[in-house]
Amino acid sequence: MTEVLVYVDHVAGAVRKPTLELLTLARRIGEPVAVALGAGAADTGAVLAEHGATRVLIHEASEYADYLVVPKVDALQAAVEAVSPAAVLVPSSAEGKEIAARLALRIGSGIITDAVDVEEGPVVTQSVFAASFTTKSRVSKGIPVITVKPNSAAVEPAPSAGAVEALSVAFSARAAGTRVTARTPRESTGRPELTEAAIVVSGGRGLGGDFGAVEELADSLGAAVGASRAAVDAGWYPHTNQVGQTGKSVSPQLYIANGISGAIQHRAGMQTSKTIVAVNKDAEAPIFDLVDYGVVGDLFDVVPQLTEEIKTR
Ligand code: FAD
Repeated sequence: MTEVLVYVDHVAGAVRKPTLELLTLARRIGEPVAVALGAGAADTGAVLAEHGATRVLIHEASEYADYLVVPKVDALQAAVEAVSPAAVLVPSSAEGKEIAARLALRIGSGIITDAVDVEEGPVVTQSVFAASFTTKSRVSKGIPVITVKPNSAAVEPAPSAGAVEALSVAFSARAAGTRVTARTPRESTGRPELTEAAIVVSGGRGLGGDFGAVEELADSLGAAVGASRAAVDAGWYPHTNQVGQTGKSVSPQLYIANGISGAIQHRAGMQTSKTIVAVNKDAEAPIFDLVDYGVVGDLFDVVPQLTEEIKTR
């Protein structure tokens, strides 16, 4: 059976959810072969095997932390040459897209970015023009390189062999072109990562600059905090928390939009959420066209009451 390479996004051996989603999609095309690089790569084997990786190619070297993406591209190219896969799947993070683009150029392949689905073929679905249209395409040259947006597929356990094998990598001269001089970890909020959270509580311009009520509601639910672009542009919340066309795509079990009108660019990043709740004082706000449950009211009255009620349970 044909094999499909899956690039593993992990932090010190802890595999991130978007990679497990890629394994679900890869199984539709062939046998997933995972490629895990850098410190902790050897620790990824068990969870990757549980989710369908037939083989896990690992390579640990300080170059992956010392330099930017080129060593990872070198390693993926080595994996492509060793495996001759039917496709290469990479998570659609900023780094993932840079790695995928450089790899496609090196191996003379076509690339499709920001896929929301991948079927046999591989036929790739993208959601375009702020989710107004979906397109289906195929790469017509070389081994397809495809980046997939987070939350595009379910994580499905599928126990497999997951044989861990060492990948042989010779770094190119270009690898050392850009050296990382310092890494400053972001201050942890203790909340889940936005794209991986089961519940997202978001705030918009209606908050008037004070995310306190939204953060308290999020913490009562163990949720991540999201923000509209209006709130981010006003400097009320970091860009890393922006949901939408030019922010992150989320697809949680529950999305609670507070003081957000529901512009098409915001919807593009959250409309696939399983259950959508909105609190807005304007009964005509477009967000209400999308919701499962809507509360017409002042969020500064409604949200604290909701938080108190949740805390009693
Ligand atoms: P508004 O549209 O101003 O809505 C605020 C809402 O709060 C209103 O509905 C109001 O009734 C309600 N409200 C006010 N006070 C209260 C209160 N006390 N209680 C309850 N409700 C209250 N936007 C994104 O979010 N994400 C993106 O990624 C994004 N990308 C974009 C890309 C492009 C190219 C462009 C052109 C735009 C993009 N936008 C994006 C911006 C988008 O068009 C909207 O401007 C933005 O989403 C509006 O944010 P908002 O809903 O917070 O603000």
